[in-house]
Parts: sequence; C-alpha cells; structure tokens
Amino acid sequence: MATRGVALTGAGISAESGIPTFRGEGGLWRQYDPVKVATIENFMADPRSYWEVARERGPAVLAAEPNPGHYALSGLEKAGRLVAVITQNTDGLHQDAGTENVIELHGSGRTVECLDCGTRESRADVQRRLDFQLPPRCRICGGSFLKPTAVFFGEPMPEAAVAEAIRLAEQADVMLVVGSSLVVYPAAEIPLVAARAGAPLIVLNAEPTPLDRFAEVVIRGRAGEVLPEIAYRAINPSEGE
Ligand code: NAD
Ligand code: ZN
Repeated sequence: MATRGVALTGAGISAESGIPTFRGEGGLWRQYDPVKVATIENFMADPRSYWEVARERGPAVLAAEPNPGHYALSGLEKAGRLVAVITQNTDGLHQDAGTENVIELHGSGRTVECLDCGTRESRADVQRRLDFQLPPRCRICGGSFLKPTAVFFGEPMPEAAVAEAIRLAEQADVMLVVGSSLVVYPAAEIPLVAARAGAPLIVLNAEPTPLDRFAEVVIRGRAGEVLPEIAYRAINPSEGE
C-alpha cells in the first residue's frame, strides 16, 4: 500500500475548473501566440500586450474553484497515501482544495511583483485596475513592469522547487501523473526519476503522452471523474474488488 505517493499535475487537472490548458483540445495555443504572451522577452519589451490578454483571461482564472480532481488529491494526502503534489500549474487550486504540501514548479500566478522595486501585491488587485490602467503600474514606485510570480517561458525554473520535486520522486512508492502533456522539462523528467527508482507510474491524461510506454497503468480520461475513483480505491482497498 502506497504511503509515499507523489502526484505531478499539469494544466489538464484544472481544465474542468474552467481554466483552459495551453496544449491539447481547447488549448490556448490555438487562440493566442504563446511567444507574444508568455515569454519573458516579450513581457520586458511590451508588458502592455501581456496584460491585454490577462485582462480577458484573468477574471475566469481568479474565479475558478477546485474540482473533484483537486479534492481527491487532497483526500489522498489526508489519508496518508500521498506526500506531495508537484504542479506545473500556477492557479493555486491545489492549495484551495486543501493540499498542504504543494511544490509549484512554475511559481504562482496569484501574486504580482514589481520588477523595479520588488513590491508584491495580489493578482486580484492588479487585475481590478486593468480596465483603466494598461499596463498596470506599481503603487509604490510607479514602475510599469508588474510581473506575475509565475515562471514565464525563457525564465529559469525555481531551483529549490525542482530539487525538492526530484527528491520526492526518488523516494516515491507510486507516481501519479495527471493532466500534463509531458513534453517539457522537468515535467517529463520527474516521473522517469520515480520510475527509475522503482516506483510504479500511473498516467491519467485526456490524450496519449510520451511517457505512456513507461507507465504501469495508463488511464485515458478526465481528471475530475477518474481521480475520485482512484482515491476511493486507494483509501478503501478492501472494498469494490
Ligand atoms: P498542457 O496544456 O501542455 O497539457 C495539458 C494536458 O492535459 C493535455 O495533454 C490534455 O490532453 C490534458 N487534459 C485536458 N483536459 C483534461 C482533463 N479534464 N483531464 C485530464 N487531462 C486533461 O499542460 P502542461 O503540460 O501543464 O504545460 C503547460 C504549462 O502552462 C504548464 O506548465 C503551466 O505552467 C502553464 N499553464 C498553467 C495553467 C494553470 O495554472 N491552470 C493553465 C494553462 C497553462
Ligand atoms: Zn515598484
């Protein structure tokens, strides 16, 4: 019975909360050019274009609530089956669902930082002034480079989070991957670290992933539907067989 399980989640787990993924069906990359929107180079050259998109997309992300998939993972943690959720998401929904140990590989989109003076404020506050101020300005120094504390394309990953994710993967006794296309580093590498250390790999995703062939179990389905079932069986192993 797993007691050191680790989950790795991507944008797919939040799709049923109404936050579109980047890749895959309904993915944002079919609407926006990611190079225009979420690279650090573009942001530094033209913060206004970033915030124009954020003005449209932000309210839905801020209003999103955890779905049964997020709650199933926090239930597994409370039941002592899961020690951590490693996530590529920046939406904060694992924390909202009650998961205590969340490793954010791509930072958080809920806080905004002034690149000139370092002052931080909530994304919700910045979001509110986009209707009359584009790009938004720092309330302390007036600077016009207010950047979400999420990792943009072209920025380094937070080293401590990556190191912790790898440590958890090495010690995992099962690795559950949910809603990630598994095509970018280190998301694609972390499950392999666990598998090499002997942990069985479970991949739950709406579409095939490059790591399916290394998995003990591949489930093609929706996270909000399948995860509660996985959690129920893990927590009540004697029932339902
Ligand atoms: P991705 O967008 O590349 O892939 C998401 C995967 O989830 C796809 O393979 C898709 O088939 C699958 N999927 C879609 N709906 C699903 C569902 N209901 N159940 C199960 N699977 C489903 O996501 P990624 O690999 O996480 O990479 C994109 C990067 O962009 C992330 O690393 C993240 O930093 C950022 N991002 C974050 C959010 C968020 O915070 N919610 C949303 C979009 C993008
Ligand atoms: Zn400032």
